[in-house]
Amino acid sequence: LFITFEGGDGSGKTTQAELLGAWLAEQGRAVVRTREPGGTAFGADVREIVLHSRGDIDPRAEALLYAADRAHHIATIVRPALDRGDVVLQDRYIDSSVAYQGAGRVLDPEAVRGISAWATGGLAPQLTVLLDLDAATARGRLDAARTRYDRLEAEAAEFHERVREAYLAIAAAEPGRFLVVDAALPVDEIAALVRDRVAELL
Ligand code: C5P
Ligand code: MG
Repeated sequence: LFITFEGGDGSGKTTQAELLGAWLAEQGRAVVRTREPGGTAFGADVREIVLHSRGDIDPRAEALLYAADRAHHIATIVRPALDRGDVVLQDRYIDSSVAYQGAGRVLDPEAVRGISAWATGGLAPQLTVLLDLDAATARGRLDAARTRYDRLEAEAAEFHERVREAYLAIAAAEPGRFLVVDAALPVDEIAALVRDRVAELL
């Protein structure tokens, strides 16, 4: 079972993945918690470049770096875990690239999706939890939590609004794969909604 968490910066993906992971472990399931970019040692190097490069990165080069991280991560961590029968809970996947590199950087979204489809051999999650939050609330959460911003967090409000709209459009196009949750709800209420949906898949 492959479950991904998506949403803007500050939407609470990591918190919800942790809570779901703890609950699944209580149910006796083997769980692998991982993330992109940076779920492997190579990926951590890529993450440092894409988030903190000293220079500008051309948008296509940026898209290819996320795809390179993804190819390695899926091949070395995620597919082996799924082959063992583990549940994989992953912060961010291809939808992040369609939203951030596609809508955010204004690249052709289908081209961006196509690069990642090739990079991953077409691996798709059974469920994607989209934590939907308006850009202003997300900004407030980040400002409260950060001492330094990454290159994406530092982008303007319009960038993050495009990302949000793209996420909602992706979810609307594939309603069967998505659980869209209002990320402004209390943490425990969100966790309960996620658990109920995952319970149907176990
Ligand atoms: O979710 P996390 O904070 O680990 O993501 C790191 C950064 O990478 C975020 O600021 C996110 O906006 C950005 N990102 C991106 N494109 C992706 C994945 C992540 O711009 N495909
Ligand atoms: Mg982040």
